[in-house]
Amino acid sequence: MAIERDTLETDILIVGAGPAGLSFAYKLAQLLGGDSSAAKPEILFMEKGSYVGAHALSGAVMDPRGIAELIPDFREKGAPLEAAVSGDSFYLLSEKSAIKSPVNPPPLQNHGSYVISLNKFTGWLAQQVEAAGIDIYAGMAGFELLVEEGKVTGVQTVDMGLDKDGTPKSNFEPGSIVRAKVTVLCEGVHGSLTRQAFEKIPSLREHCQPQSYLTGVKEVWEVPAGRIKAGQVMHTVGWPQPHDQYGGGWIYGMSDTMVSVGYCVGLDSYDPTNDPHLKFQLYKTHPLLRRILEGGTMLHYGAKTMPDAGYYSIPKLYHDGLMLCGDSAGLMNPQRLKGIHLAIKSGMMAAETAFEAVKKQDYSATVLKGYQERFDTSWAREEVYRTRNVHAGFKGGLYAGLFHSAMQLVTGGRGLFDRREHKRDHEYMLTIEAFKARFGREPKKPQLTFDNKYTYDKLTDVYKSGTMHEEHQPSHLVIADYDICNNRCTQEYGNPCQHFCPASVYNMVDDEARPGKKKLELTPSNCVHCKTCDIADPYQVIRWVTPQGGEGPNYTDM
Ligand code: SF4
Repeated sequence: MAIERDTLETDILIVGAGPAGLSFAYKLAQLLGGDSSAAKPEILFMEKGSYVGAHALSGAVMDPRGIAELIPDFREKGAPLEAAVSGDSFYLLSEKSAIKSPVNPPPLQNHGSYVISLNKFTGWLAQQVEAAGIDIYAGMAGFELLVEEGKVTGVQTVDMGLDKDGTPKSNFEPGSIVRAKVTVLCEGVHGSLTRQAFEKIPSLREHCQPQSYLTGVKEVWEVPAGRIKAGQVMHTVGWPQPHDQYGGGWIYGMSDTMVSVGYCVGLDSYDPTNDPHLKFQLYKTHPLLRRILEGGTMLHYGAKTMPDAGYYSIPKLYHDGLMLCGDSAGLMNPQRLKGIHLAIKSGMMAAETAFEAVKKQDYSATVLKGYQERFDTSWAREEVYRTRNVHAGFKGGLYAGLFHSAMQLVTGGRGLFDRREHKRDHEYMLTIEAFKARFGREPKKPQLTFDNKYTYDKLTDVYKSGTMHEEHQPSHLVIADYDICNNRCTQEYGNPCQHFCPASVYNMVDDEARPGKKKLELTPSNCVHCKTCDIADPYQVIRWVTPQGGEGPNYTDM
């Protein structure tokens, strides 16, 4: 039965109230307010979280360059800055030791930056946007990107009130068609509409390499005084990642008693048991971390992917009726593990372009390509270009990567090679047989017994993310072929989804219909929307689609 849908018309549709979308809106409001001759466009700003910041998670040490351009008096306006960076250190970890680098590598020197909670920061930025006259509709989620005759024409929002099997319940509300002259995707990492944009408009990724991702797992701890100083920033490489796999950790002093601690794991791993959550819990058992955290209280948990491949994986930033900003465009500096300032700058440049489109009443690629031109001549492009080979330099392992990083630093980013080709992350995963052939043993996870006082199992951690989903709705993890999961994947890879998901959504349980066999069981209500499964599944049969608006994690202090 065809569903009748309301149609809303707008000029500009902003999807996602993270730093990029909020900066876009704030800058556009400023430009419109400063030009009485400009026609006032209709603007619709939607955010899938239950409030602005509910899905925002980052380390985070923010380079203020972006926010200082957007709101020069951001400090006076009360931006929530947890602490100015007061000291930096960099460690190489083995299981029992921590070797402190005598010199902090220049990219990891953070003097002048701030330790922030991204979810508090975006909440504050949202207040500035609303004060500038643009309303934000939290709890409104886009389901499908509308592309007609090669042009992006808007978004269909999620149907609300469907039962598990897709049957409308008494509270059924069909998703609306939001028709927009330009849709600005600021969804964050691996957004579902952005993924559709790449599928429906292949020219967006025609000349770029696949994106590479990290999954970052984070907790916020309250610790006794004297363990850390406000603004103290520590980065580590090495253990518990093996030296031939990409990743590293951070410990940031949010105050003298609040700590942000996290660990990032590359998803281009050969290991089908790669488990970012487990690696993070192991990380906390290192003596360096125990000295800071032990005796404290874990307050919050979250996980999220990051785009790490750098410059050569950035797509074309515009199309007819479309602009891509922030993490949706893969804008992150992999050397500094920073993207907030780049997201802010990209939002500002997209807003300048949208303002031009409003004035010319022309939202076609002819005008929107101005965003690409602004980016190509900006400091943001220069910064990501300088770090273009960082991730690729670690393909030969940690020590080769550190060597390549040093070479890249002295050669303006080129190093010993340029534009090294790479595959999509899931293509690096070895089957169990291939793993045995390479390493002479079965893939096996490190052992750790969670005590749920210092090291936490996934379910206890998920509870601390505030994640909520209506149970009675279609699963937002769509499995294209369960037969592959229950048979072929079990044999070939050992069901990596049960390892890589940091929220225990995927579990292999006894299959009563097939004694002695297991079947995949999903618990979508645990999902923290990190997107790891959509990226790392070796058969690409898992698809993350948007659940009802206002669901997912409800982060605080993250
Ligand atoms: Fe992340 Fe997928 Fe697990 Fe959700 S189901 S928490 S998106 S890996």
